[in-house]
Amino acid sequence: MKQQVRDLTTVYATLSLAVGLCFCGTPAVAAEDPNQELVQISTINALISGIYEGDTTIGELLELGSFGIGTINNLDGEMVALDGQAYQVTSTGSINVLPKSAKTPFASVTHFHADTTTAGVSTDTMEELQELIDRGLPSENLFYAVRITGTFPSMKVRSVTRQEPPYRRLTEVVKEQSLFSFSNTSGTLVGFRCPEYVQGVNVANYHLHYLSADKKQGGHVLGFELEDGTVQVDTLPNFRLLLPDSGAFMKTDLSEKNEDAIHAVEKLRAPTQ
Ligand SMILES: [Zn+2]
Repeated sequence: MKQQVRDLTTVYATLSLAVGLCFCGTPAVAAEDPNQELVQISTINALISGIYEGDTTIGELLELGSFGIGTINNLDGEMVALDGQAYQVTSTGSINVLPKSAKTPFASVTHFHADTTTAGVSTDTMEELQELIDRGLPSENLFYAVRITGTFPSMKVRSVTRQEPPYRRLTEVVKEQSLFSFSNTSGTLVGFRCPEYVQGVNVANYHLHYLSADKKQGGHVLGFELEDGTVQVDTLPNFRLLLPDSGAFMKTDLSEKNEDAIHAVEKLRAPTQ
């Protein structure tokens, strides 16, 4: 079994390498990926239902993956994990390094090891970049971690406001979200592309958070222009879902699909300037 897993790893690395080589004419770099898994805490439907408290600490989360996105207990802002450090983007836009004792109700992480690296990527919109990445993927049916570094002539992000119980649904809370627009900011997009069939468990398609290089700007990404970016993709054929076994998650009706709600909370556009 172990041997099979290793063989698959090699196949994916090889596929990604081949895809990377033809996707922009830029050499791709394959790296050994020891775990190749997306580890997720709770579900997006649970978060949408107002389950804003979890038991997983940031310290535990970072052991599961040093790279990823999520939120913090009480929905106290957006979370970005990068290079083994977790950051909180508060509703005022300020950024804090999260202590290991802070907890998360919803997060997705991995130990990022790029299977492909493509340099010199410029796009006018987020959607254009996503289509470009999509064209290089070996399949729409696996999970992918994406890490994009570069300069962003424009970047639109949002964060959410800390909540107190009794909690309202996320669709209500995001109506009060804080929107931020940055110009000529340099930094890193951190996120995942999940397959369509996990909608409700996670967010289908792309979910990206941003953190500037100076750690002063960030949030849940709504749109951007990218200039001379480096796009790295890590293929993740494994998906580990860690569900809460106490608290509100045990009693809440999570049978709704929430298709529209997910779209509303994740893809809500910043108003045009
Ligand atoms: Zn987000």
